[in-house]
Amino acid sequence: MIQALRRHSPALLLLAALAATTATAQDTPPTLDAAEFRACLSGLQGAQAFRAIAGDTFRQHTQGLEPDPSVLVLLNRQPEFTMPVWDYLAVLVDQERVDEGRAAFAKWQPALQRIEQQTGVAPHIVVGVWGVESNFGQNLGGRPLVQSLATLSCFGRRQSYFRGEFAAALRILQEGHIAPDKLVGSWAGAFGQTQFMPSTFFRSAVDFDGDGRRDIVDSVPDALASTAKFLQNAGYRRGEPWGFEVKLPPGFDSRSAGRKNKRPIGDWRRDGVTLADGSALPDQPSSVGLMIPARGGPAFLVGRNFDTLYSYNASENYGLAIAQLANLVGGFSNSVGFVTPWPTDDPGLSRAQNRELQILLLARGHDIGSADGMIGAKTREAIKLEQQRLGMKADGRAGQKLLSALRS
Ligand code: CA
Repeated sequence: MIQALRRHSPALLLLAALAATTATAQDTPPTLDAAEFRACLSGLQGAQAFRAIAGDTFRQHTQGLEPDPSVLVLLNRQPEFTMPVWDYLAVLVDQERVDEGRAAFAKWQPALQRIEQQTGVAPHIVVGVWGVESNFGQNLGGRPLVQSLATLSCFGRRQSYFRGEFAAALRILQEGHIAPDKLVGSWAGAFGQTQFMPSTFFRSAVDFDGDGRRDIVDSVPDALASTAKFLQNAGYRRGEPWGFEVKLPPGFDSRSAGRKNKRPIGDWRRDGVTLADGSALPDQPSSVGLMIPARGGPAFLVGRNFDTLYSYNASENYGLAIAQLANLVGGFSNSVGFVTPWPTDDPGLSRAQNRELQILLLARGHDIGSADGMIGAKTREAIKLEQQRLGMKADGRAGQKLLSALRS
């Protein structure tokens, strides 16, 4: 949920934890000067971005506040490698999430239907965002927003961006939407059931349950309606599907691929493109672009509503995870995979399989902590050792081949 900072978004952060980092010198938190921090905060209090914040509010929430150096480590962290799209989807769209999504879809059906009446956004799409962003409210993040955003406003790069978010966070507290101890989230400041940034809160959050507060942390109806409002603001079209998996005719010239290169659906039909099962393309969405996440893998035609998912996090793979989870939750698809398989002989692991892999690593004496299904630096190092022992490429990647080898 951050356009300007795409790899800091919650879903991508989840993957950073799963994927990609090895402890290095850059992971050592810097020492931050307390006096410099106090002086910076004093300066902010009078700044234009903070004009809506009362002096009392500012003092109340910054008194005795200390900077948190660990957020600067995360701000500067570079991914070790780019995760293949099939690994990304294996974790974000696994059977566990589909089952929980279907239960949530049923439980919140009355609210979701009223939300669709008001915003046009289909219930399964809202649930898809919810599942990818916070695992249906189970992973909201635990970092105090005021501390993280105050630190990022005074140290490191992009201070001006974070100052706007810091001011918005204080305004949320000033207006009493969220209690101070509930305003926690990702290190970059995304919070709530669908991980809004504070500035997004003021553009899109709504009070749907009618208690006068826009509480996207503890009120599921407020959070779901706010998510729909965000998608509506981004141009969501009522009644249109996001798109679908397609089959390209032999020898198809895919140079015209690109989500933004939209053409009338009839043009694609004339070119011989069909649905993945070979049946004719439907009439909606009327204008679509061709998306091929990995050469030789599944292809998709996507319309305007896919673009609204993209606008949530500025990543096509992220949009595809939401879209596919939504299809499964809404009963438009029955398999977590696509008709055309990904171009790999070593598919990625679900969270349940990641946990099984970790249990097998623990049994072999690797000190990786608990089997939490998150492939962090310790698990990755243990994987490398096992890959070396087994004569596999020691890249630290958790895949099906390694899991099979450790099972036997
Ligand atoms: Ca409310």
